[in-house]
Amino acid sequence: MKVAVYPGSFDPITKGHLDIIKRGARIFDKVIVAVLINIDKKHLFSIDERVELIKRVTCHIENVEVVSFDGLLVNFLKEREISVILKGIRTVFDFEYELQMATVNKELNSEIETICMMADPQYSHISSSNVKQVAQFGGNIEKFVPNEILKDILDKIKA
Ligand code: ADP
Repeated sequence: MKVAVYPGSFDPITKGHLDIIKRGARIFDKVIVAVLINIDKKHLFSIDERVELIKRVTCHIENVEVVSFDGLLVNFLKEREISVILKGIRTVFDFEYELQMATVNKELNSEIETICMMADPQYSHISSSNVKQVAQFGGNIEKFVPNEILKDILDKIKA
């Protein structure tokens, strides 16, 4: 069974993330969306909320699992006996970052392969941070995030 882990912060999940998950689920037998528990970073949504939002927008895709993880990604992969990391590339900045991360992970465990998928041009400008910024200033984020979680983001920003 070919399994890939798609790691990230997903604070919150965007249409760009969802597109990578859907396309990944067509290529791999299973995609595990792994939400990083990062206590240093200030998040809009808690880890449990982020996991719940991703589950809600991916519940119709049979071969997708959503989990949270702590610590090094390579350790999480080892525990689960998985060797593929799935990533999305929007810009050359993503490329530079992902190339570095892939090299570090390979150094930590030579079995690991990082597979990068090019962002769909209609979503390549979307990031969780610009979603939050636009929403904070009252802009329309409908084009950026799945409909099912729109209200959660607006309510959270207001709170
Ligand atoms: P962000 O950079 O928005 O905080 P994450 O850390 O949650 O996002 O990103 C997880 C992965 O998803 C990374 O590989 C990132 O490059 C990719 N990604 C993020 N946004 C998009 C998008 N709009 N289209 C394709 N891939 C994306």
